[in-house]
Amino acid sequence: MDTEIETTVAVVGAGPGGCLLAYLLARSGIETTLIERHATLDREFRGYLFQPLALDVFEQLGLLDEVLALDHERVSRPEVVIYGRPYRTIDFEALGGGHDYALLMEQPPLLELLVERAAEFPNFEYHDRLPARDLLYEGGRVAGVLATNRRTGDAVRIRSRVVVGADGRYSTVRASAGIDPGRLASKLDLLWFKLPADAVGETAQGRYDDGGLLLYFGLGGEAAQAGWFIPRGSYADLRGRGIEAFRERISTVDPGLDGVLPDALGSFDDCTLLRIEPGMGERWVDGGLLLLGDAAHIASPVGGQGNALAIADAVVAHETVARALSLDPGDGPLPACALGRYESRRRPAVERVVETQRRLERALTALVLHGERVPRPIRRPALRTFFSVAPRSPLAERTAELLAFGPDPVRVDDSWFEREAPTQF
Ligand SMILES: Cc1cc2nc3c(=O)[nH]c(=O)nc-3n(C[C@H](O)[C@H](O)[C@H](O)COP(=O)(O)OP(=O)(O)OC[C@H]3O[C@@H](n4cnc5c(N)ncnc54)[C@H](O)[C@@H]3O)c2cc1C
Repeated sequence: MDTEIETTVAVVGAGPGGCLLAYLLARSGIETTLIERHATLDREFRGYLFQPLALDVFEQLGLLDEVLALDHERVSRPEVVIYGRPYRTIDFEALGGGHDYALLMEQPPLLELLVERAAEFPNFEYHDRLPARDLLYEGGRVAGVLATNRRTGDAVRIRSRVVVGADGRYSTVRASAGIDPGRLASKLDLLWFKLPADAVGETAQGRYDDGGLLLYFGLGGEAAQAGWFIPRGSYADLRGRGIEAFRERISTVDPGLDGVLPDALGSFDDCTLLRIEPGMGERWVDGGLLLLGDAAHIASPVGGQGNALAIADAVVAHETVARALSLDPGDGPLPACALGRYESRRRPAVERVVETQRRLERALTALVLHGERVPRPIRRPALRTFFSVAPRSPLAERTAELLAFGPDPVRVDDSWFEREAPTQF
């Protein structure tokens, strides 16, 4: 039997963007329904880095202490090791913001925290196992979502004044609205796998040697995350050469991992392929519709911006939606012009971040794809000289600031909050 849900804002997707926006709207007294297709939020392989921008937002909301009580690692001065020598990349302490570190952590506990806090408001509902499959239209505007209850197989119609597509890179909401994701070409893929946390140094975040480029970082728990860049489309070749050959390449880059790799990387089943296919959606708002996070602009993992972008989007979307609803107390879908403020503020900021990521990605691509063409006696000193000079250049400092705080730092508009969060009483 079909079910009907009436709400004011339907948020599709419980990633960082959707969970934060749902919390902000709930705290502002707005009827909010968050739906997630999976049964739990406990999935692996999401963006792990939370830039100082995200910490500022959690602090403004009075949530930072609870976030810091979750397993995490602080990163203040991450390093990259080039042919065995460490070099600083970004110095969060020198940037002079409110928080002089970034956090590395698994996403699920943080998402659970946001959903739990939102659930303390009576105007909030969370439904798991409820994938959106289409949009409902009324007079040319989006008037809700059609979803399927995975427990019962029933169709669920959620009627709302705004649908927020926060459903990630393969967004169903974006596709149903016929919005082009604006995919940008990339020549790299990234292979993710786990390592034991004690096999990974605290400050090293990357290591380059003749074998390739390895990323790794602790997450505050027993496992650390590792990533290996490969030329786009070459995963089948790598698999064809066998897991032993892959382990040997990684050991060339970090011989210290020799002892742990046979267990950590028993087979290619221990690896997950992440396609680096960033995108910039052609538009992020329509009548009754707003897209945010990866649904609006698919994040590249370069520079760890996915979470920060989704969080900043949620902050601006909250202010825009709360204002639009207060100015239009009717009950129909909000017009696109009422939501346009969100896109006109966020698009230029996201474009600047994406341009910076593209520049960094070009350098990475040159290293991964063409590094071996440069004879080793030239490559080694050239890279060492580059990494001892480049991080201190004015361009690198501007880049670090942009990646840490975004080009247009956001502030939560707490004038919409009806009352203090219940947990603080
Ligand atoms: C598999 C994967 C790996 C990633 N790896 C990295 C990485 O290594 N580095 C990096 O910087 N970024 C990575 N990202 C992106 C990064 O996690 C995002 O930029 C960040 O999480 C912010 O995204 P978001 O909130 O917009 O959406 P997401 O975090 O992608 O969350 C979207 C949510 O929507 C849910 N959903 C999807 N479709 C539906 C539907 N039809 N109905 C209801 N719910 C739905 C999903 O289950 C998910 O919970 C990855 C994303 C994915 C999906």
